[in-house]
Amino acid sequence: MSASTALGRGDLPDAWDSGDAAGIDPEHDRRVEELKPAGAGVAAFYDRAARGIAGAPDLAELKERHTRLLGRERGIVTGRLAGLPELSPEERRQSGRALNLIKRWLTELEAARRSALEREQESRSAQGLDVTLPGRKPWIGHRHVLAQIQEELLDLFHGLGYSVYVSPEVESDDYNFGKLNFPPDHPARDAHDTYWVDGGLLLRTHTSPGWVRAMEERQPPLRLVFPGRVFRAEQVDASHMDQFHQVDGLFVDRDVSMADLKATLNTFARSIYGRAVRTRLVPVYFPFVEPGAQLDVACVICDGSGRVRDARCPVCKGGGWIELLGAGMVHPNVFRAVGYDPEAVTGFAFGMGLERIAMMRWGIPEIRLFLENDLRFLNQF
Ligand SMILES: [Zn+2]
Repeated sequence: MSASTALGRGDLPDAWDSGDAAGIDPEHDRRVEELKPAGAGVAAFYDRAARGIAGAPDLAELKERHTRLLGRERGIVTGRLAGLPELSPEERRQSGRALNLIKRWLTELEAARRSALEREQESRSAQGLDVTLPGRKPWIGHRHVLAQIQEELLDLFHGLGYSVYVSPEVESDDYNFGKLNFPPDHPARDAHDTYWVDGGLLLRTHTSPGWVRAMEERQPPLRLVFPGRVFRAEQVDASHMDQFHQVDGLFVDRDVSMADLKATLNTFARSIYGRAVRTRLVPVYFPFVEPGAQLDVACVICDGSGRVRDARCPVCKGGGWIELLGAGMVHPNVFRAVGYDPEAVTGFAFGMGLERIAMMRWGIPEIRLFLENDLRFLNQF
């Protein structure tokens, strides 16, 4: 073999020798012998190249070694083949034969080694175990923001002597509307507002049916809170969902007054928005209370001024107040419906939406975020 096509063991790294070429090619020793007439260097080169292919530890390294030997641009064997035309016809015949044998055999070895490595990789992933991967930290979740605020509210009312009463999400018309003094033609009973279920049942539109159930089961005094999910046939947008969460409260005893209601609601508002928060009760109509009211708190964003940096406050829309919840003295007709004597007992009730309270407190602009399961949102709480 002439200078331009000469090959030797030294063209390749010593470390390649550790591969077991005979292990993947039973013909290995015979092939090395067959190359010896072309020169001892050529045979030694092939021996080391074949060991290098057989010993490639992974697919990436195999590709690297294959490129070094047979790559189109810089492969050693490829380069020597390209030099053949410069040789005399006799040299060209002998070197050409050896180089082409080397190319063919190394190509076979590479294919054999590659499929062996691929099989190993498949069986590792089939067992689901790759001990070389870094460990994964166990993933610890936390309670949803609404569950957190519900817990906080129940805790607060527990401190005021209230117990929790849980009632069904599927209700009868009678419990959801009739016994709560809704007139038969009240618009809330319309199919546009309420999800009706077969058999005259419906998905409760508020947690207030719980009052009726509790009062039918128990005698006064009662001091209860009613947490749960409620449903309305709403067009979903940034501030309306077709399901949300409420907490109702009910206090029934002798001589319960509006002053008791006011004190309870102020305690609640201060615990949520801080001691300094200002509140007001505004008369509002609800069928199940008389008189009915809504509790407003001074806007926490503009401190009740209605203006932020010389512009209208976006949260209270310039009004300076935010509606927090509905409340009132329990209507005598509700007491009559559950068998209480409205001359003997009085009571107050209130109801609030958890989403609304959370949105006000943290400035959350979009009610749909609560149900979207987007961790970028949930992880903030
Ligand atoms: Zn404001």
